[in-house]
Amino acid sequence: MISRFLAGLLLFGFAQNGAHNQIARDIYKELIEIKTTDSDGSTTRAAEAIAARLKAAGFPEADIQVVGPHPRKGNLVARYRGTGRRGPLLLLAHLDVVEALREDWSLDPFTLAERDGHFYGRGTTDDKAMAAAWISAFIRMRQEDYKPDRDLIIALTADEEGGDYNGVQWLLKNYRDLVDADFALNEGGESLIKDGKYLLNGIQPSEKVYQSFRLEVRNAGGHSSRPVKDNAIYHLAEGLTRLAKYQFPIHLNEVTEGYFQRMSLLRTTCVATRLEGGHADNALPQTARAIVNCRLLPGESPAEVRSTLIRVLEDSRISVTPIGDATASNPSPMRADVLAAIEQLTNQMWPGVPVVPVMSTGATDGLYLRNAGIPTYGISGFFEDVDDTRAHGRDERLGVKQFYEGIEFLYRLVKALSS
Ligand SMILES: [Zn+2]
Repeated sequence: MISRFLAGLLLFGFAQNGAHNQIARDIYKELIEIKTTDSDGSTTRAAEAIAARLKAAGFPEADIQVVGPHPRKGNLVARYRGTGRRGPLLLLAHLDVVEALREDWSLDPFTLAERDGHFYGRGTTDDKAMAAAWISAFIRMRQEDYKPDRDLIIALTADEEGGDYNGVQWLLKNYRDLVDADFALNEGGESLIKDGKYLLNGIQPSEKVYQSFRLEVRNAGGHSSRPVKDNAIYHLAEGLTRLAKYQFPIHLNEVTEGYFQRMSLLRTTCVATRLEGGHADNALPQTARAIVNCRLLPGESPAEVRSTLIRVLEDSRISVTPIGDATASNPSPMRADVLAAIEQLTNQMWPGVPVVPVMSTGATDGLYLRNAGIPTYGISGFFEDVDDTRAHGRDERLGVKQFYEGIEFLYRLVKALSS
């Protein structure tokens, strides 16, 4: 009897999960097949498709908004009303994806394909799995009549990957009340597999800051038949050679102390990414220019890094000019409740896998929220092979098993943080 009862419970559980998994997969497929690139895609179409799903699931119209500054750059904001005992939790994911060309891929990047145990398509990892997770969690909790003790807000946004209309910035400026929250969960955490083994579940309370510099040498030039030692290209090249050999000092903060494995995360990095110089094959160069792209540790200022570059380049003829203003991003204080919930769930779902604070080398929209005073934690739950990350690249993919695990993990996490 007991075993039949247990078997019945298990079957019931699987059937329930099966139905939820199917909803999550349908949302995932729909999102991947709506092209949301900056060039000719539309996040508005994706936002409207999701809004329709939420309305069909019974969410009131007043709690679902599609808003944006441009016809192709819509953002979805949806609110799941709680008892209001605590302040809202914001669940963020971006709808836009990096460009992908059919001829570069071995399959159509804008059709969800399931093959060899993986889902393939642009956005399968960055960031449409997370969008599907938040939306399917809303629908599942609604079906359960779940009453959270705080409002839950989903924002699915435009132009995280670039473009003129960053959705998070725009929402904070124009609809702060819609997205205002106690804290936020976002992409940027890393759940890593190494050699087939689950390695760690990362939580990301801070990220590096992006800043490029233009290096330039100007020179009077002259006819190339009468070369002189004073050559703009050579001066720049010699400076760059000195930079190539330089390593910024290691700095530890609360986050990096927990994450020694990846040494490049502990220091600022600067690398030459572009080079141009000269104006004619038969003339001495009047200018030589390089772009150096830096990823700053939080807490280091672009001005400090610029001084270091000038010192390392060791040539006053090379001017160093920042390109644009870096947006500083201070680490969010590690919240005990968030960390505890993530540790407990990770232990339940993947026993023995450690939870480790990580710091992304790239930048996400988390920095706008952090700067607006909303502590933001990057988390994933979608485990990926550390040696085979394809976000932004060709044949982007996510393991099928890992997709459903991530969907379940994030659903449980939202509940753990709201009850
Ligand atoms: Zn992303």
